[in-house]
Amino acid sequence: MADVAAFMDHLGQVLQGIEAEGLLKREREIEGPQGTWVEMAGRRMLNLCANNYLGLADDARLSNAAMSAMQSHGYGMASVRFICGTTDLHRALERSLADFLQADDSILFAACFDANGAVFEPLLGAEDAIISDSLNHASIIDGVRLSKAKRYRFANADLADLETQLKAARADGARFIMVATDGVFSMDGYFAPLAEIRALCDQYGALLMVDDCHATGFVGPQGRGTPARAGVKAEILTGTLGKALGGALGGYIAGPQTVIDLLRQRARPYLFSNALPPAVVAAGLAALDIVEAADDLRKQLADNAAYWRQGLEALGFKLLPGEHPIVPVMLGDAVLAQRMAAALAEEGVHVAGFFFPVVPKGQARIRTQMNARLTREDLDFGLKAFEAAGRKVGVL
Ligand SMILES: *Cc1c(COP(=O)(O)O)cnc(C)c1O
Repeated sequence: MADVAAFMDHLGQVLQGIEAEGLLKREREIEGPQGTWVEMAGRRMLNLCANNYLGLADDARLSNAAMSAMQSHGYGMASVRFICGTTDLHRALERSLADFLQADDSILFAACFDANGAVFEPLLGAEDAIISDSLNHASIIDGVRLSKAKRYRFANADLADLETQLKAARADGARFIMVATDGVFSMDGYFAPLAEIRALCDQYGALLMVDDCHATGFVGPQGRGTPARAGVKAEILTGTLGKALGGALGGYIAGPQTVIDLLRQRARPYLFSNALPPAVVAAGLAALDIVEAADDLRKQLADNAAYWRQGLEALGFKLLPGEHPIVPVMLGDAVLAQRMAAALAEEGVHVAGFFFPVVPKGQARIRTQMNARLTREDLDFGLKAFEAAGRKVGVL
């Protein structure tokens, strides 16, 4: 018989270890909608840590689209797609996403975590190779693990190492090679060097897969993402509805028709998991409509990011360089990052400290994120708060 008490004791010790290292994550509750300002513990806080890049998470056009879809199509699908979980809305969103991303077709998942978990296993077998960036999102790492393909890893955005791995995969006799990378590395806000990666893929006859979760909707021409920004194409693109495209949930894979057709037959998170609810799908369609015409929001987002970076640098904070609306404030020590986040909360700013295992040990940070709806007044409020908190914890 299993010793339940010993098992719980063991898990309790693991939790205590996490807490003792200062790595315990505590969730704080928002009372009301996600947005630029949120209500927490009865207090209005400036929110600088949502993936709400275009500020659509509380946009009435999305909630109205969701409400009217609930009236026309009901609440839940109670089915996977291939049994009776596909509505006209699901296909319309897949078509719209494909058009927006300039792909043949796309396929929806419950989340991009599922899309990345789904994409490798049906397409690549034991004769094949996947070469994955070392800083790829956890869901890509898990997806790669689920496939039988031989695994290779290259140092983050390191083209020389990528070429070494491409040569190794070729030397090992790989039938097909797929290079997998995030378009934007979310802890740093760094762009993958896609033009160079594409050139290497072409040189070695490899396919390119890009996860564009932190780019679709606001990076590149018309917000079409990092391949468009770099002027290249990726065979396979994965992404989320959970960030710039409204922030609810849902993921997708976009790519050549044959790929999408095969994934509909074989992708396990598609075959064995429920269809997205109509409300979410309809709001996704509304989000895409807004995003295609949102050059003003994209410009405001870029202006906000530039202003915020400049302001933090002028105060003396150490940032990672870049131009993405992810602006990491580097603090080094996990406990210091937690203290800084707590001091910022006292000043009325909601941010999260990021530390191991989410980032490497010794590289703890506060990851701030801009959105298009932040005003200059909001940003100045944020800068004042960072100045006060920075002095309080002794980093300024
Ligand atoms: C957020 C994120 C995901 C997961 O997306 P969900 O739709 O929330 O599951 C996958 N990959 C990257 C790079 C992400 O940033």
